[in-house]
Amino acid sequence: MKTIQMIHDDAIKREIPIMKDDGIAYLCKFIQEHDIKNILEIGSAIGFSSICMAMVKDDVTITTIEKDEDRYQEAISNIQAFGYTDRIKCHCMDAHEFIPTEMYDLLFIDAAKSSNGRFFDRFTPYLKQGGYVIVDNMYFYGFVDDISQVRKKNLRQLVQKIQRFKTYIMEHPDFESYYIQTGDGIIVAKKK
Ligand code: SAH
Ligand code: MG
Repeated sequence: MKTIQMIHDDAIKREIPIMKDDGIAYLCKFIQEHDIKNILEIGSAIGFSSICMAMVKDDVTITTIEKDEDRYQEAISNIQAFGYTDRIKCHCMDAHEFIPTEMYDLLFIDAAKSSNGRFFDRFTPYLKQGGYVIVDNMYFYGFVDDISQVRKKNLRQLVQKIQRFKTYIMEHPDFESYYIQTGDGIIVAKKK
């Protein structure tokens, strides 16, 4: 039988960037405490975080998007192994093209870090009033707080983009946002 620990360890071994242990623990506790029922996740990878979220409680349903065909196939097989096919719907596509057909309690953004702003603008209209956005990797290995460590030009531009997104979301008039230093840094934004 496949366990969540096996999926976790396999992802770490293969350097698939799943959420860090304390980050996923925070996310799951958040879902429990805020009675989150339906979730849109951007960036499924092999389904680790989706399965963790579905494990929180039986009334959680998740739509998750993954553009990489191989990872998508693995996610599907992991979701099947857990018997969650009716509660986790995985779509293989570029999230920039995904059109939601429902309104969500939670939008969880964990895909390409340079696209955070576009994902935020594209999907927050499908967030219920009082719903939440959670964005992973806002610490980004510490680079976001101390860009002087970053020498490579491309990485520097990415870090600057994350910094701008952080400011954008923190100052957004329609959201009440806070930053949590757990995992690789998480932003929680509540839709007013
Ligand atoms: N949430 C997962 C980890 C996701 S890793 C977990 O914690 O278990 C980020 C994933 O986002 C990668 O697999 C990558 O292929 C995917 N991704 C990046 N850009 C994307 C896009 N534009 N649309 C869909 N998926 C994307
Ligand atoms: Mg992440």
